[in-house]
Amino acid sequence: AAKLDGRGCNRMFEPYMDEEARRRTQLEVDLRRAFQENELEMYYQPLMEVKTGKIKGYESLLRWRRGENDVLLPAEFIEIAEDTGLIVPLGEWIIRTAIAEAATWPDHITVAINLSPTQMKNPSLISTVINALATNALDPARVEFEITESVLLEESEINIKTLHVLRDLGVKIALDDFGTGFSSLNYLRAFPFDKIKIDKCFVTELETRADCRAIIRAVMCLANDLGMRTTAEGIENQNQINILKAQGCDEMQGFLFSRPISGKLLPRKDETAQNRSTVPDELH
Ligand code: C2E
Ligand code: MG
Ligand code: MG
Ligand code: MG
Repeated sequence: AAKLDGRGCNRMFEPYMDEEARRRTQLEVDLRRAFQENELEMYYQPLMEVKTGKIKGYESLLRWRRGENDVLLPAEFIEIAEDTGLIVPLGEWIIRTAIAEAATWPDHITVAINLSPTQMKNPSLISTVINALATNALDPARVEFEITESVLLEESEINIKTLHVLRDLGVKIALDDFGTGFSSLNYLRAFPFDKIKIDKCFVTELETRADCRAIIRAVMCLANDLGMRTTAEGIENQNQINILKAQGCDEMQGFLFSRPISGKLLPRKDETAQNRSTVPDELH
């Protein structure tokens, strides 16, 4: 907005703009170094299947470990990675890491991987996925890519093509953060998603706002008719579970079950889930 202001305002905002530009440049330098020095790490958050009450899979979530007790969230650096194009090599590393990790998990457990718009536009995305699946001998059906509406907003034709190519590999495609964009319903016609993830802002206000309950109910109904599964994000209490369960939600994810945890803490193929699972039995 500062750019549009008159001269006086512009001059007034300059020190601030410089400060912001400097901060971003420094963050970019730090992030590139962190990537090279292996300070980036994937965390994993359980996706609970409502029908069975068990862990169905994990969503992989990027973390920047700057020190023993200093872990940065994507909100602080993912935009810089997007803007500078670093998200492309970083995204390839994320795909390889999450797929390699998933290959060590019990056979029925799936992995969800977030894809940004810039990654979608990159021509090497498909070969990265094919290679990662082949290298780790992972069944493509155990991989799910999560995209947001922004992917369908720009260059939608080419991106929809890419989604079809991915789907033809046998992986699943989910529409993330559903309900937060502009014309969500229209996007449901653009691609036959396997799953809709209802944004946590609706879940958070589920108990206090009747309109949120109505929207969620409508989305569940729609997803059901379209043959898509539903996941509710951001579950933090038992009451939310009860309401969503009654509305026919297929999967749930949230801090109540588990926060995202380091991949090192997840159960391996040859271990029983009970040994290491940190997830309580709240669904029952
Ligand atoms: P998202 O894909 O919608 O991921 C879910 C976010 O909700 C995660 O935040 C998760 O920690 C948080 N969450 C889960 N349950 C709860 C809950 O009960 N309460 C609250 N308050 N939050 C909950 P996180 O890890 O900070 O990631 C934020 C966003 O950054 C993600 O949103 C995704 O858009 C992006 N992101 C994360 N990892 C990656 C990645 O590997 N690649 C790309 N391209 N984007 C990523
Ligand atoms: Mg996601
Ligand atoms: Mg989400
Ligand atoms: Mg979200």
